[in-house]
Amino acid sequence: MDNTAVSAMFDEFADWLEIDDENPFRVRAYRRAAQVVRDLPEDVAQVAAEGRLTHLEGIGKDLAGKIVEFLQTGKVAALEELRSKYPPTLRDLLQVPDVGPKTVALLYKRLNVSSLDELEEAAQAGKLAALPRMGKKTQENILRGIQLLKQSAGRVPLEVAWHIAESIVAELKPLPSVEQIIPAGSLRRWRETIGDIDILATTTGASAEVMDRFVHLPGVTEVLAHGETKSSVIVVVDARRKYSVQVDLRVVPPGSFGAALQYFTGSKDHNITLRARALKQGLTINEYGVFEEKTGKQVAGATEEEVYAALGLPLIPPELRENRGEVEAAAEGRLPDLIDLAAMRGDLHAHTTYSDGHNTIAEMADAARARGYEYLAITDHSKPLAWGMDEKTLRKQIKEIRQLNEKYHGFRILTGCEVDILSDGRLGMDAAVLQQLDIVIASVHSNFKQSREEMTRRIIRAMETGLVDIIAHPTGRLVGQREGYDVDVPALIEAAKRCGVALEINAHPDRLDLNDLNARAAKNAGVLLTINTDAHAPSNLDLLRFGVHTARRAWVEKKDVLNTMPLDGLLKWRQQRRGL
Ligand SMILES: [Zn+2]
Ligand SMILES: [Zn+2]
Repeated sequence: MDNTAVSAMFDEFADWLEIDDENPFRVRAYRRAAQVVRDLPEDVAQVAAEGRLTHLEGIGKDLAGKIVEFLQTGKVAALEELRSKYPPTLRDLLQVPDVGPKTVALLYKRLNVSSLDELEEAAQAGKLAALPRMGKKTQENILRGIQLLKQSAGRVPLEVAWHIAESIVAELKPLPSVEQIIPAGSLRRWRETIGDIDILATTTGASAEVMDRFVHLPGVTEVLAHGETKSSVIVVVDARRKYSVQVDLRVVPPGSFGAALQYFTGSKDHNITLRARALKQGLTINEYGVFEEKTGKQVAGATEEEVYAALGLPLIPPELRENRGEVEAAAEGRLPDLIDLAAMRGDLHAHTTYSDGHNTIAEMADAARARGYEYLAITDHSKPLAWGMDEKTLRKQIKEIRQLNEKYHGFRILTGCEVDILSDGRLGMDAAVLQQLDIVIASVHSNFKQSREEMTRRIIRAMETGLVDIIAHPTGRLVGQREGYDVDVPALIEAAKRCGVALEINAHPDRLDLNDLNARAAKNAGVLLTINTDAHAPSNLDLLRFGVHTARRAWVEKKDVLNTMPLDGLLKWRQQRRGL
């Protein structure tokens, strides 16, 4: 928790400094510090206690002093001073896509806009378009962004929700009275955003101990209910953005645990379909169990397996419970054999200091090896992105990777590139150098506002070059922050099939792109998928699970995913794909 809090403090510091028009180098130092602490593999408080803060890259005496001050007092005086200069709601504007600190400062100075509501009002009144560096289009984008924010209001991103749920479970599980404890709800189905968090538990004897501990957990800012069978609290976390979420803890009798888990996992529509099926069999199903309608006798309830079995069904994995045909498939023995994390043999999308990553090739490779992978593809950005490589740099990188590979056994760094797809569908790197690579990823990072036809043609052209193995984050959306660019996904899927190109499920929780529905359509069309983290630091490799569970929501099996293949299979696929 400390690392998250400290990095959020530095992020906020940087935001205010930038709004305050501070020296860009100072702003960058604070952003860098936030990143360093966020990616730190150990507890920052421990590092501070041992006087090792200044050994961290980019942390000098001044920043180390701020960390110590924050850890000791929960505040930093210099930050408090900055905060006091502006209305506290001013920083909320940064949540709007296309609105950076410079724009916030401008809005505040010129229009006296200091909250989201005021920004919306000003945009609707057409006042933004008149500001320097703005214009009608930016104004429209800002309005759309505010709309998107409102839609996602009250929902927290999947990663944040898991972080909260897992830390609560870790606190409560060791209690002597706790027998079973597990998060249910949409979190257990791995939906991309989460409303409330539901946690279920069984106890030996009274529930007082676990309920008491629950309402006093760190991070709890409000207790809505404190009962014997149910308690509800509000938890606040600050992870780059501030989120508050309601968490319900229910303690249920062991004989009903499976039924309660099934009921509170949902989805609502899945449960309605199950209930209808039960009724046809003379049964009723609710959060307490499965019962014979006539006699009221309980026939199941302790485990989920027995609840589904009572309805003549195998256990349906939570990710499938969206009423998208899973009950019929289960009844007919057609449930997919879903992919899992253990099936993943490597990651095919990672960045290093050669572009915008934070670590060296060797550091990223070591992190991949530590996770038991057989391979890691290094896919740094290409020109024309300002932080992208040119051909010469890529050749240098290929050489470095070949040298590094000499010392590994049972592991290989794959040479690669995330080559930019230019506006007209050409690639940002010469064919000659791309042909030397093990893996070529292509993706769109600019000119998002093209028409649907232009964007679709642009990406299909990139596939038709024959040089591209994977299209990364195919729709460009950012969960809760930015809709994707306008693109004809079925046409992309058709082209991927025709060109033998794999489509990515980008596992970063901000992206999850392709999403579950698009990934399922791709799978059904016979397109190969790949699940990658797009890691910019070693710790990012752990985000893979978000992609794997999104794939499970898409009914994806091991055989549908490129990077479940062993290294030789992967290289053979690539050779066949390229007609070599
Ligand atoms: Zn990218
Ligand atoms: Zn990338």
